[in-house]
Amino acid sequence: MRIYNTLTKKVEDFIPFEEGKVRMYTCGPTVYDYAHIGNLRTYIFEDILEKSLKYLGYDVYRVMNITDVGHLTSDGDTGEDKMAKGALREGKTVKETAEFYTEAFFNDCAKLNIAKPAVVAPASEHIDTYIKMIKKLLKDGYAYESNGNIYFDISKAKDYYRLSGKNPEDLLIGARESVEEDKFKRNPADFALWFTISKFQNQEMKWDSPWGVGYPGWHIECSGISGEYLGEYLDIHCGGVDNIFPHHTNEIAQSEAYFGHRWCNYWIHGEHLNDATGKMSKSKGEFLTISLLEKKGYDPLSYRFFCLNSHYRNQLIFTWDALDGAENAYKKLKNRIKQLDRTPDLNENKTDAYQVKFKEAISNDLNTSSMMTLVYDVLKDEDLSDFSKLYLIDSFDKVLSLNLIEEEKEIDNDLEKEIQEQIEKRNQAKKDKNYELADQIRNELLEKGVKLIDSRDGTTYEII
Ligand code: AMP
Ligand code: ZN
Repeated sequence: MRIYNTLTKKVEDFIPFEEGKVRMYTCGPTVYDYAHIGNLRTYIFEDILEKSLKYLGYDVYRVMNITDVGHLTSDGDTGEDKMAKGALREGKTVKETAEFYTEAFFNDCAKLNIAKPAVVAPASEHIDTYIKMIKKLLKDGYAYESNGNIYFDISKAKDYYRLSGKNPEDLLIGARESVEEDKFKRNPADFALWFTISKFQNQEMKWDSPWGVGYPGWHIECSGISGEYLGEYLDIHCGGVDNIFPHHTNEIAQSEAYFGHRWCNYWIHGEHLNDATGKMSKSKGEFLTISLLEKKGYDPLSYRFFCLNSHYRNQLIFTWDALDGAENAYKKLKNRIKQLDRTPDLNENKTDAYQVKFKEAISNDLNTSSMMTLVYDVLKDEDLSDFSKLYLIDSFDKVLSLNLIEEEKEIDNDLEKEIQEQIEKRNQAKKDKNYELADQIRNELLEKGVKLIDSRDGTTYEII
C-alpha cells in the first residue's frame, strides 16, 4: 500500500508498527447540528480507506470520538462553545442535543454505507483520561496554569509546525476566523487543555478536576481517546484538511510529550467538498444534508458514487448538475449489472488478474476513480462470463459499498410469467406506435408494484 502522508508530504509505503495490523483513529463529528455532505465526504473517504486496508488483508482496529464537549467556534480557544450554541438553538440540554445529532449522524452514515468504527467514544465519557494526561503534562513542564485554565506550552514541543508546514511568523491563531486572542496564554499559539469556570460561567457540562470545576479542550479528547483504546503507537490518523492545523498539530504535540516518543506515523487527510460559492458551511445558504438530497429525490448512494469518482486529495465542487450526472451514471451502472446472468461459471484465471488490478488501484494512494474504472472494464470484458463479472463486482463492492449487486427478491413463477408477457405485449405496442397501450401496460404493472426500466439493452423490471 502506498499512501500520501501529510507528515512527510510524500506518497510512501505503508508499514504499520505490527505486521498485518492497523491501528487507526479518525476524528468524529461535533454533534451540535446535522452533518453536511462535506463532512460526510471525509467519512466516506475514511470508510473507503478502512475497507481498502481490509481488502489488502490487514486486520484494522478503528476508533472514532464523538465531540460532545469542548469544541469552540474558533480553533484559537475563543468564541462560543459549539455544543452550548446548538443546545440553545434547540431548546434542549447539551446531552439531549448530543444524543439527537449522534443518532442523526449514524443514520446518515448508514444511508451512505459508511461502516461504524469498532469503537465510537463520546468525549464526555473519558474525562478521567484527560485529567491523567494533563497532570503528567504539567508535572513534566509541558503545560502551565494561567487564570485557572491549563494550557500547553508549544515552545516545549519538538518541531511543533512539522505537520502543517506552517511558518510561525505568518500565523495568527484562529486561522479560520478573526477572533480575539486569549490573553492568558504565554504564546498566542499555546492551546487550552482544560478550561475552568473562569472561561465560561454557564457551561452546562462540567467536571471536577485538580484545577477547579471545568471541562476539557477539544484537542486533548482525541489524544486521550486514541491512547486509551489504541495504545501509545498509532499507525494512521485521519481527518479533513482543516484538521491539520491546529487540531492535529496540537494532538501530536501533547501525545508525544505525554508518551515521550514518536506517536503516529501516517497522517492522512481528505480534501474538502466545496459548493459553487466556496467553503461549505452549516450556517450559510442552503444547508446541504443527506435528508435534503433525499427530499429532492436522490438516492444517497448517488452522492457516494459522486465522491468516489474523484480522488480524496482533490477538492470537489458540489453542484446539483454534477449530482444529477452521478445519479444517472450510477443507475445505469446498476441496471447493467442487474442484467447479468447469475448461472455459476467462474473464469478463475481472469478474475485473479482483475483482483490484482483492484489492489493496485488501492495501493496507488487510494485511487477510487481507478477502482470505478475497473468495474466498467470488467463489464466490458467479453472473455469474462457474466458470473465472473458478478463475482468481481461483488468483491470490489466490499470496498466501494455502492450496493452494486441487489439481492434478488423472491418472486413467484406465475408473476414472473405474467410480467414477461406484459413486457412483450408492450414492446409490440411500441413497435405498432400504440403508445397509449404501452403506457397503460406500464401503469397497470406499476399498480401491482412492478416498475419497468427501459434501456438500450431492453426492458427489465424492479419489484417495489
Ligand atoms: P466537525 O463535525 O466540524 O468536527 O467536522 C467533522 C469532519 O468533517 C472533520 O473531519 C472535518 O475535517 C471534516 N470537514 C469539515 N468541513 C468539510 C468539507 N467542506 N469537506 C470535507 N470535509 C469537511
Ligand atoms: Zn480529533
